[in-house]
Amino acid sequence: PFTTPSYIHKLPFDPPDSIPIHEFLFNDEDKYGRYPTADSRPPFTCGITGKSYSATEVKNRIEWLSAALASELGFEVNGGSEFDKVIGLFSVNTIDTMTVSWAAHRFSGVSSPISPSYSAVELARQLKTVKCKALFTCATLLPTALEAASAANIPKTHVYLLEIPEKALKGALIPTDMESVDQLIAEGKKLAPLPQLKWEQGQGARQTAFLCSSSGTSGLPKNVMISHKNVIANTLQMSTYESNYKSGKPESLLAVLPMSHSYALIVTGHSGVYRGYNAVVLPGFDLIDVLEAIQKHSIETLWMVPPLIVALIKNSAITARYSLEHVKTTVVGASNLTKEVNEQFARFFPNCQLIQGYGLTETSVVVSMQNKADVMFGSCGHIFPGYEGRLIIRDGEEVTELDTPGELLLRSPSVMLGYLDNEKATKETFTSDGWLRTGDLMEFRKSDDGHEHLFIVDRVKEMIKVRGLQISPTEVEALLLRHPCIADVCVVPISDDSAGELPLAFIVRSPAGKGEDERVLKQKIHMFVNSELSEYKRLAGGIEFLEALPKSASGKTKRGEMKERARKIFETG
Ligand code: AMP
Repeated sequence: PFTTPSYIHKLPFDPPDSIPIHEFLFNDEDKYGRYPTADSRPPFTCGITGKSYSATEVKNRIEWLSAALASELGFEVNGGSEFDKVIGLFSVNTIDTMTVSWAAHRFSGVSSPISPSYSAVELARQLKTVKCKALFTCATLLPTALEAASAANIPKTHVYLLEIPEKALKGALIPTDMESVDQLIAEGKKLAPLPQLKWEQGQGARQTAFLCSSSGTSGLPKNVMISHKNVIANTLQMSTYESNYKSGKPESLLAVLPMSHSYALIVTGHSGVYRGYNAVVLPGFDLIDVLEAIQKHSIETLWMVPPLIVALIKNSAITARYSLEHVKTTVVGASNLTKEVNEQFARFFPNCQLIQGYGLTETSVVVSMQNKADVMFGSCGHIFPGYEGRLIIRDGEEVTELDTPGELLLRSPSVMLGYLDNEKATKETFTSDGWLRTGDLMEFRKSDDGHEHLFIVDRVKEMIKVRGLQISPTEVEALLLRHPCIADVCVVPISDDSAGELPLAFIVRSPAGKGEDERVLKQKIHMFVNSELSEYKRLAGGIEFLEALPKSASGKTKRGEMKERARKIFETG
């Protein structure tokens, strides 16, 4: 196994395993390190209105919100399973998003962050699967939220509203008959304080804090059980790694990526808070809002995915109007970036270094990052302190040479507990001796100064990544197979300059399908998919009709061959 190189800082202490996340972040005694420092900034500021709450206010809001919710939902703080106290979060980013999750943890419950791009069908399925007892949403998503809540038997009285800036409402009305987070907090203030949490030794390592969606290495989307200790561990790993090239001085960071996805949930929702940073929160990617927020708040760190970087570059006339010299670090994760994009980016951000990070929901979340002091282009740096890695070829044979790819296997205190109610998938994801299979093919390459850096070579798992968001091909295929004109289907990624990847469907038509005009049928299939799935899961990579799909002896579609075919389609345009 390999670990972090010796010149990278080690973890200052073992991640505590018996406390909830919010106690780690907001404890007053400064027991665990950096937070709160005298000059630390408010944890979250709205990038549009400038509204923010101090750390002390956030701490109080967690207490009051939790008290009000526990009272309305009839929850006991100590007692029962955390899975009987699941709170859904279906909203764009707000300055209270994390407060809602931490309030759920305060009564020993679970937060289930859900992508705001979900359709009502997808949302209802998630609410039912995790047995949500209440749902937090925002005015723009309310029609979808109410439709899904009703399908999942969540009464309207248990659907609550997060505040979003007026500009982001885009004409949506704020209903007067629904309770807001502020109203709940006002109610909670009047109630008796909640009893202290009585956690047993090691409970933070056993108890789920978040249920995040991932399809893992294969199959339908699953709920990843992320424990309190997992989040604390990754927060600490991230913070320790950053200390290799950053002073402890507080700074501001851009929180525009959806905190419903594990990447932003951890990096903008937790690790920045731990370091005393201010996350400037935006409800979505609006180019002008992003540029104004960066300029106005003198933001130093941008957490991005490649398509957002591409958008900044493509709109160069607008980007060039802003002074962006405060930005010192931009971290890109979730997919890779070309050299050309890197060079163009440097023109607008003269003092900024672009560094790549790599991670997955199952490791909650960041595994490796480039060290700003030691960057090898195209690599994703070194694994974080506290991780152990192995590169495996086949039958457990270990890679020992440079420039030789193998599947990355990992062990870390941040590795998930498993998939909710899915022992089979959990078992398949771990080796018998407890290593997590990432489904990513990686290799080491040596830089001129003799340091070894980790490179992503390919993804061997089935997942497709669109603008940093995951698609399970199985989910799209299962839907397509319900269409009467489709006999067989295989959905694979096809490269896309702006989105990274897009889903492309190879379809074998049924006799009914063969009777239809090809162009008309394609349109019908697109409409069928669009009516059920989120916008990013749509077949924007196209539809190709085939006579048959290549099969293995066991009758499984040879996905590798289809991916190769998609590669050729991309290359030939
Ligand atoms: P998710 O669980 O949605 O964060 O997806 C994790 C997957 O995204 C990883 O297993 C990789 O396949 C892919 N991924 C993450 N970071 C990168 C990166 N920097 N470059 C390419 N692919 C990445």
